[in-house]
Amino acid sequence: MGIIHVLSEAVANKIAAGEIIERPASIVKELIENSLDAGATSVEVEIKHGGKSLIRVADNGCGMSPEDAELAFQRHATSKISGAEDLLRIASFGFRGEALPSIGAVSRLTLTTRVEADDAGTEVCVEGGVKRSVKPKPGRVGTVVEVRDLFFNTPARRKFLRTDPTELGHVLDVVTHLALANPSVHFTLSSANKSLLSLTPAKTFRERAFQIWGEDQSRYLLEIQGEGGGIQISGIIGKPTMVRANRTDQVFFINRRWIRHVGFSYALQEGYHGLMMHGQYPVGVVFVDVDPERVDVNVHPTKQEVRISKESEIKSLICRTVAECLQKAGDLAPDALQPKTFSRPFSTRLPESQPAYLKFQEENAAAVSESVLQVSEPEPAEAPVPVSGESFIAPVVVRDQLHITKVLGQIHHTFIVAETEAGMILIDQHAAHERVMFEATLKEFQSGHPKRQRLLMDEILELHPKRHEILKRAMPLLEKIGFEIEPFGENAFVVRSYPAALADENPVACLERFLEEMEDGKTKGSLENAQENLAALFACKRRSVKAHDPMTGPAMQTLLERLARCDNPFHCPHGRPTFFKYSFLDLEKQFKRK
Ligand code: ADP
Ligand code: MG
Repeated sequence: MGIIHVLSEAVANKIAAGEIIERPASIVKELIENSLDAGATSVEVEIKHGGKSLIRVADNGCGMSPEDAELAFQRHATSKISGAEDLLRIASFGFRGEALPSIGAVSRLTLTTRVEADDAGTEVCVEGGVKRSVKPKPGRVGTVVEVRDLFFNTPARRKFLRTDPTELGHVLDVVTHLALANPSVHFTLSSANKSLLSLTPAKTFRERAFQIWGEDQSRYLLEIQGEGGGIQISGIIGKPTMVRANRTDQVFFINRRWIRHVGFSYALQEGYHGLMMHGQYPVGVVFVDVDPERVDVNVHPTKQEVRISKESEIKSLICRTVAECLQKAGDLAPDALQPKTFSRPFSTRLPESQPAYLKFQEENAAAVSESVLQVSEPEPAEAPVPVSGESFIAPVVVRDQLHITKVLGQIHHTFIVAETEAGMILIDQHAAHERVMFEATLKEFQSGHPKRQRLLMDEILELHPKRHEILKRAMPLLEKIGFEIEPFGENAFVVRSYPAALADENPVACLERFLEEMEDGKTKGSLENAQENLAALFACKRRSVKAHDPMTGPAMQTLLERLARCDNPFHCPHGRPTFFKYSFLDLEKQFKRK
């Protein structure tokens, strides 16, 4: 007698539930996706105890016939695909036919549904995977799924649930993320009978974003748009001053499907290169649209992991689109009075009741093409500053921020205070000088004819084999920027010349530091990054103005002028801010004059 037997459907469902349902938020995601697949224009979500005691999702979608309502709880029962070939072109969120039976296996579930053609609806009750009852039930067209006592029959899983507020936070993320991708659908979320979100149908993604983030945060959002190689990128990103301590506010969609993708997240981050410090993460909601045949969503039961062909193309397009958007945005200087921590959307007032939102809707009745989600204070009309004889074009806004009318002085020999047309700025003299030196060094490198300085005596550089390898790889770059280095025996090199930009610094010490950073992985592989890193290193080594250095008026003036001419005057090469601005308006508000 064989020892293998087929598991009962109830057990199989419980196993599937283990993969699909991590926490209440996973159920909310599956149920909302079902509602969207059913063509709902309104989805109401209600939860209690972070979803542990109740999750209720009600929609006005197409509903199910009595037969379908029963069939829906069978494993792999789906209306969304029928043959294997359909797996290649999945247009719906669901297709595996696993969600409802899995949820039913680990909770007490009641589904009430009605199709338009029928007078009455159907109610199906399932408890721990066992069908308890199926009966006719009056009700409106659409579907209501109530999930109670999650994991009541799997205590081990229940123990892994976090506190109610944490679970609620995850549910909120799911609802906001799906709402962002479906702006025309009305979404509501309430917890313990308290309304947390009420998102009326919005005409555009932009409007939906405003509903969710509210006035305070929308000021710091920028719209992105990119295209190439059959890929389209759209969405919003935060200005570099809108930082988070983790990646939770990075959301990616592929063909409107919300996915998790570490690679995309890195690509987004890379777009902020040099604008953020280590350990800071940008905010971004990014939609990627590609030919569905390039995306395999049948990889994981939650359908949040996908396999994409030519993924690297998408990543570089994301990175490029973000970098270009930030470059164009120009005004990236942090507002000194900007709130440093942004509240989660749900803890603020309901967006629609905000006067700014009403104003936003009014103003956007006609399509607007400006690229910044700036709705609160329109930028004052800019006074163009002549950009004479410069090889680069700095956006006008940048120059406005740094259009200094008066240098007022120094504080603690460390910060420079200056008056600008829009208010006042406070500059970190060392960070500013480092930025100026960094860009000068980089331009020299890029010129292709860097000035070279011969060492009085050749120096021998002995290296550990690993560093030896790194140096060998970096050799073409080092030569390009002015080093003259040759292999010398087994594990050594001889250094003959060095870039003049290094002035009186010890070139060998600089090289060693560079190799150390390369080894630590601080510098990523690409040549361009290595070059930037070297420039940053040199800028740091070259005699720069330090904190506590007294500066004369003309020296401050010159520094600020040179800073204004930088491609990115807002951050030092390490991503720290170079200056903060205090707009006159904000100052007036602070002093309650406005
Ligand atoms: P899938 O979404 O992968 O098809 P589910 O288990 O989530 O699998 O749902 C099974 C089937 O039940 C769906 O294919 C659909 O036909 C039906 N269904 C589920 N939820 C709804 C809903 N809210 N409105 C209408 N039909 C639904
Ligand atoms: Mg489904």
